[in-house]
Amino acid sequence: MRTPIIAGNWKMNKTIEEAIDLVKEIKSGLKKDVETVVCVPFTTLSQVKKEIEGTELKIGAQNMHWEESGAFTGEISPLMLKEIGVDYVIIGHSERRQYFGETDEIVNKKTKAALKHNINPIVCVGETLAQREKNIHKELVESQILKALDHIDDEEVIKIVIAYEPIWAIGTGKTATSEEANDMISFIRNILRDKYSQDISEKVRIQYGGSVKSSNIAEIMSQSDIDGALVGGASLKSDEFIKLIRF
Ligand code: PEP
Repeated sequence: MRTPIIAGNWKMNKTIEEAIDLVKEIKSGLKKDVETVVCVPFTTLSQVKKEIEGTELKIGAQNMHWEESGAFTGEISPLMLKEIGVDYVIIGHSERRQYFGETDEIVNKKTKAALKHNINPIVCVGETLAQREKNIHKELVESQILKALDHIDDEEVIKIVIAYEPIWAIGTGKTATSEEANDMISFIRNILRDKYSQDISEKVRIQYGGSVKSSNIAEIMSQSDIDGALVGGASLKSDEFIKLIRF
């Protein structure tokens, strides 16, 4: 019922030339019924968008400011992303929370701004290793989700993709077991059911992220509540990413 969604997060990698080469290969390996997104650096958005014209490949940004314009040196607004034709934007990635001080309140403002401009947010949540070891990971994720979704109604929430990314699994080679990932993602679905309804909770797509590669994607996707993956390192090589979307 929910279309699987695999999104590559290229992070701060790829020049324009490298981005075009990579996307040319990816667009030739798309799989029907799997929504595929590349979240590329701002500098490459326009050219990548042109390169994927007429294909099913979608394009995303990795961040965005919540205001439409103003004195925010170095920032990019939702209007600017919309002008390029961006489909998705990653909001609240743990690297932005950790290195750039993004709070749950900022994540909420950005999520609402993206929805207002018809850009689908991929909202990231996830705990640190210390929080998991203290057994407060569910409480933490619940609070991140409820704050991110504050004042977002039924019609809007179904456009959001949630990415559960345990921080200890990002870029470390350590993956949560598929059971651990599914357990948290089912928990997130229950939060959506309690805040919205059973129907809404069954419509929202929830991804897992953290060292996903072609060798573990099938196992992850076989879980009942996992609808896709947000992929960092393994999205930078076309052969690996294509294998991954063809899980
Ligand atoms: C990410 O950046 O969202 C991510 C999950 O990275 P990696 O796949 O490299 O762990």
